[in-house]
Amino acid sequence: MEDVGKEMSKILRSKDMTAKYEALIQEVLADKDVRFFIDENRQKLTNDDIIKSYAKLYEFVQEKKKFRLKDPTMIAPGYEPKLMLNFHFIDVTYVPTEALLAKKEADEIRERVKAMDMPKDIREATLEKFEITSERSEALSQALDFIDSYSHDPKGFHKALYLQGSFGVGKTYLLGAIAHRLAKDGFVSTLVHFPTFAVEMKQSIKQDNVGEKLDAVKRSPILMLDDIGADSLSSWIRDDILGVILQYRMQEQLPTFFSSNFSMKQLEEEHLTVSQRGEEEPLKAKRIMERIRYLSKEINMIGKNRRKNA
Ligand code: ADP
Ligand code: MG
Repeated sequence: MEDVGKEMSKILRSKDMTAKYEALIQEVLADKDVRFFIDENRQKLTNDDIIKSYAKLYEFVQEKKKFRLKDPTMIAPGYEPKLMLNFHFIDVTYVPTEALLAKKEADEIRERVKAMDMPKDIREATLEKFEITSERSEALSQALDFIDSYSHDPKGFHKALYLQGSFGVGKTYLLGAIAHRLAKDGFVSTLVHFPTFAVEMKQSIKQDNVGEKLDAVKRSPILMLDDIGADSLSSWIRDDILGVILQYRMQEQLPTFFSSNFSMKQLEEEHLTVSQRGEEEPLKAKRIMERIRYLSKEINMIGKNRRKNA
């Protein structure tokens, strides 16, 4: 903006009415939008006002050209130059294009889906795509019910879903799609690949920052724990990590989703009961399971394995 203006002002100040200057003025005044604008505002503008605005008109014509050609050297990419009246002076304003606004909105939606150690394609998951490629399953209608009741009363308690089903049926995809839809309505979700998170927690004991990460996860307005039960749990992860998260979610009545290859019953008996040292701790397993049951409804997802390389 500055450069174009300076160039023009320099020419104007030199008062040396060279051919170059004449040509520039002619080009500017021949522009359809410039003529239309001057016509429209003729009552409010003196000849002197127009002459004083030549630099801005020149900037407008140049930037409009670049805008049309999508020239990357344009002053404000994604913004369309428009003329406006600024008292007795014509000015250029840069108006965001539809495309830019759409991109901004899409970025904001993405921002609201916090994905920790999740596959990249989860960000592209949408319920619309899910509907097309899958029969209207129980899981989908339950997901829509959740979204409906949550968005009408985000402060109230809503039982979320425990998606259970074999490898590749689309459990993780559905969680991503739910998070995406909620993000469109302005709600923030955190998707956590639980087995990876458990490993990170173990590592962060040494760095003494278990608290911070754990806090961020447990406080998320909507939490989705993916692939729970995929790895064997140590009793520390079960009681001091998972247990603490679930306890907080219950206390604060915060929606919490789960996905697992195992049913709730299997999870309790085969994964939560046995600690890594081989001791059975059925009571502790029961306590965790009670919290999971309180927070979510078990939904069996059936279908073919969608993984391309499977
Ligand atoms: P699971 O978590 O049950 O093991 P995923 O959600 O990872 O299964 O799904 C397996 C693959 O199929 C992924 O690549 C995922 O992107 C894709 N997928 C799953 N459901 C759909 C769907 N409804 N539409 C499009 N792609 C899907
Ligand atoms: Mg999965």
